[in-house]
Amino acid sequence: MKTVKSIIPALAVAAVCMVSISETPAGTNETLSARQEKILPIAAFTANGNMPRLGTALGEGLDAGLTVNEIKEILIHTYAYAGFPRALNGINTFMAVLDKRKEHGINDKTGREATPVPADFDRTAYGHKVRNSLVDRDISKRTSGYPVFTPVIDQFLVEHLFADIFYRDVLNHQERELATIGTLAAMPGTEAQLKAHLRVAMNVGLCKAQLEDYVAVLRQKVSEESADRAAETLNDLLGIGAPANQARAVKVIGKGQPTKGPAAYFTGHVTVASRFSSEKPDGYRGGMVNFEAGARTAWHTHPFGQTLIVISGRGLVQSEGETVQKILPGDVVWIPADERHWHGAAPDSPMSHVAISAPRNGSTVEWLGHVTDEQYAN
Ligand code: MN
Repeated sequence: MKTVKSIIPALAVAAVCMVSISETPAGTNETLSARQEKILPIAAFTANGNMPRLGTALGEGLDAGLTVNEIKEILIHTYAYAGFPRALNGINTFMAVLDKRKEHGINDKTGREATPVPADFDRTAYGHKVRNSLVDRDISKRTSGYPVFTPVIDQFLVEHLFADIFYRDVLNHQERELATIGTLAAMPGTEAQLKAHLRVAMNVGLCKAQLEDYVAVLRQKVSEESADRAAETLNDLLGIGAPANQARAVKVIGKGQPTKGPAAYFTGHVTVASRFSSEKPDGYRGGMVNFEAGARTAWHTHPFGQTLIVISGRGLVQSEGETVQKILPGDVVWIPADERHWHGAAPDSPMSHVAISAPRNGSTVEWLGHVTDEQYAN
């Protein structure tokens, strides 16, 4: 008998919040676990080749309880989506991180090994079964597109990626999908694949709320650019915003799913919605930022400055060394390049402003320390 390993355990885990995309209840509020979150920056920095930041992400992954073998597996998995050079650089960085931690007396847990492949492993059958389960339909006999034009690459996908790699049970299917969508978010031009994998992520049981969490983790730990790409693709998948990218057509983009301002960069409750960007990749970017009373940004700078347009409520803005200025609806605030400043709501009123800035090396902002209650009270 050919061995087709059961894939039921991974799917059973997933069943907790397995609902179709359109039926996701508004109240579903699961978040990614700390371990799951740590997979994302590891995959993203491996994919974009930022080794210093990968080093930090690897340390944080180990601290959050990922084992050495689980992280090795994330790096192995990444090669299928970002290529051998990126994965091998990532593995070399991981070796250096482990050496350094050992020098500091940290003994990281090795973790378990993958179950060995049986002698009679039927890679074709196993690969098709896994892939069909991930996409939630039978795509083993496609009659058009790339599998017909280049059947051998489809064979590689089935026998190698979905059998050789996916058989390795050091990571479950949810963890593998997180590694995949972390990788793809960091690779411009792979939005079509990212959209398909966000759908797969939902098929293996990740909720809408967890995918919003995924966007927030990218924003906090990776880059605005990767988070914007992920948010836009997720909104596209969920049917929020523009119907389809029709070149030269006027687009109405819905306000989209508001994302929460991460605690590392904001004090109090802050959400960002109605994100927008110029068609030129290095052009302007912006969004509507909503601060609850008392909420504010951390100190920060913008490489090319920033324009704020106050829409509602009452707010405050301060440049380092200057007095705090009150801002009201209709006010336009210009913040010069590299000027240390913060902005937020008044203590007794919420405030919303549109914020517009342009990126340098993919980033529109450099975050500094929090605005203390003392500084805010002045
Ligand atoms: Mn600012």
